[in-house]
Amino acid sequence: MDKVLLITGASRGIGAATARLAARQGWSVAVNYATNAQAAEDVVRGIREAGGTALAVQADVGDEAQVLAMFQTIDTELGRLAGLVNNAGVVDVPARVDSMGLARLQRMFNINVIGSFLCAREAVLRMSTRHGGGGGAIVNVSSAAARLGAAGQYVDYAAAKGAIDTMTVGLAREVAAEGVRVNAVRPGLIETDIHASGGLPDRVRDLSPQVPMQRGGTANEVAQAIVWLLSDEASYTIATLMDISGGR
Ligand code: NAP
Repeated sequence: MDKVLLITGASRGIGAATARLAARQGWSVAVNYATNAQAAEDVVRGIREAGGTALAVQADVGDEAQVLAMFQTIDTELGRLAGLVNNAGVVDVPARVDSMGLARLQRMFNINVIGSFLCAREAVLRMSTRHGGGGGAIVNVSSAAARLGAAGQYVDYAAAKGAIDTMTVGLAREVAAEGVRVNAVRPGLIETDIHASGGLPDRVRDLSPQVPMQRGGTANEVAQAIVWLLSDEASYTIATLMDISGGR
């Protein structure tokens, strides 16, 4: 039986590219989405047409009840979880810290940080040998922003990703002897719709000259690293923060 993998926020962008690649490498993939059911179903259909196994599962990762229901659906429909990619994430429109309201900060940390913790918790409960599981791997999708800070644009987002980096190192060491490997990727400027969602549709083009490689990356270039970190090829790699940023 194929190993079961949950990718949060897999209806488009880096998550969708990771779902397609992981399915080609033999994972049964739960394609999570928050609102765009059609996009998630399109990803699932593409995987099935290529001979893979996939299932679309709705849940806002910032909502604990929805997260619990999602994991129960995966348990029932796909079987025992062996992989998690904490990919779902949001940005906001450019703002300075001195103008950020409480609602913005709560949304940013709720989805990007608490959502990742909730999914990691549920994954560890299923994977860790301490809980009777058979082991597994978790990859958190952080950002180069965690080390750059995103001044004048979204320091809140960068700080949320900084929390993900720290969670990655801490959780990795916590469950290292229980058969669970935890790592993170830190993408740089990647060509996806996230920039338009933050009101900056040309962000990758505009900032590309600042990238040592002089270009943005593709979702598939990030997916390659994520799927490797999930795989047995990465069997001695834990607690690493892998930059996929063209040198940015
Ligand atoms: P994207 O194209 O905007 O896709 C975001 C995905 O997350 C969508 O599938 C969306 O699904 C889902 N999502 C949003 N809020 C959610 C929630 N509350 N619960 C569950 N799913 C939710 O983003 P992306 O560029 O692929 O980014 C993926 C990850 O990479 C994020 O964590 C992002 O911070 C990180 N990253 C991206 C870049 C970049 O340049 N693109 C750079 C560094 C890091 P719905 O549409 O259904 O809501």
